[in-house]
Amino acid sequence: MVIFSLSIKYPFLMRIRRSFIHVIPLVITLLVISCQGRKDENTISAKAREIHKKVLTVDTHADTPLALDHVNLRGGTAEGERSGKVDFPRMKEGGLDAIFFAVYVAQGPLDEEGYEQVREKAMTLFEKIHAVLEENSDLAEPATRSDDALRIEKLGKRAVYIGIENGYAIGKDLSLVKTFYDLGARYITLCHSRNNDICDSSTDEEGPLHHGLSDFGRQVVEEMNRLGIMIDVSHISDESFFDAVEVSLTPVIATHSCTRVLCDHPRNLSDEMLLKLKENNGVIQVTLVSSFVKQREDEEAMQQAYDMLRKKYGEPDTLSPDQRVLYRKERAEIREKYPREYATVADLVDHIDHVVELIGIDHVVIGSDFDGGGGLKDCSDVSEMGNITLELVKRGYAEKEIAKIWGGNMMRVFRDVEKQAGQ
Ligand SMILES: [Zn+2]
Repeated sequence: MVIFSLSIKYPFLMRIRRSFIHVIPLVITLLVISCQGRKDENTISAKAREIHKKVLTVDTHADTPLALDHVNLRGGTAEGERSGKVDFPRMKEGGLDAIFFAVYVAQGPLDEEGYEQVREKAMTLFEKIHAVLEENSDLAEPATRSDDALRIEKLGKRAVYIGIENGYAIGKDLSLVKTFYDLGARYITLCHSRNNDICDSSTDEEGPLHHGLSDFGRQVVEEMNRLGIMIDVSHISDESFFDAVEVSLTPVIATHSCTRVLCDHPRNLSDEMLLKLKENNGVIQVTLVSSFVKQREDEEAMQQAYDMLRKKYGEPDTLSPDQRVLYRKERAEIREKYPREYATVADLVDHIDHVVELIGIDHVVIGSDFDGGGGLKDCSDVSEMGNITLELVKRGYAEKEIAKIWGGNMMRVFRDVEKQAGQ
């Protein structure tokens, strides 16, 4: 009204008034679009939450047992305890029903002394896991059969399976496969970052030792088939992978690996390997390790800087106090020059998309590698697992497909392996 009376006196105000009137419909349209956008976002979030709650969710690889000395699986941090990426309350918060705890053993020498030491280490880790599950029996239960996850989920508890990361744990003693089966192991990652007596690793600096599976490795795979232990091909070399798939009577799993075409790392699976995996009816569990999800632009330069540091100082444990100060100073400089950049859930789901496009929805699962290097910008611990479902819903994956990705595909392989063992 004020503008109207003034505009008689000042005609330019009339022009402003006219243009203002023209703008009104545009403003209203923009408001409606923005409200609609927010409403759509809310609908997608609600749908994702509902699906995430409904489907069985399984994480196929976490190195949490390594952190058991300083992590309280009941949640929170007491004095002297550091918090890891997994505990039972955060699993519940993140809607994760089942998890595979890894009995990880570092690679040592391939000799009798090494075998004895590693056997003891593995035994100690099994004992620790059993003890911690006993202590937390109100929150979680040990699981050994494919249908245990669903049964335990219905009790409102978390299901904890066990896998062994690095077949080095059995040394050259085939009878240990059964010993570890009896202790609850349901998969064995055939090797870790270096070659062992079973097969070659994808990352051994010395290059191949057997050019695939050794004769002993073949026996191990056959024994795993006989008992009902899944064959984990993560970490193993390409030659070892093709051998394992050839020898195994059951589908294989890759509990924590991504696709090489999207992130060129020897630990990741090439398209040729993925096509073979489809033939084998196996699964790849895309992992949340940032450097396997997305390569940094300056990756090569950064790796070179760390390699030079390693060459200059050798093993940090063996340094004198003075040398250690210098080593730490140089390491800090590299860290400052190449600050950590984490990949995102969207980057991870790009790998899922690729697997689905290449070999279909029946061959992809998720394995976090939490407490072993896993953690993304927007899924940094187990409480944020729902963000993966949210991204899947945003990209148009249906509930049935998400159920396969989160557990259905893994349990299909698990059942096949149990069936084979029963024969
Ligand atoms: Zn690993």
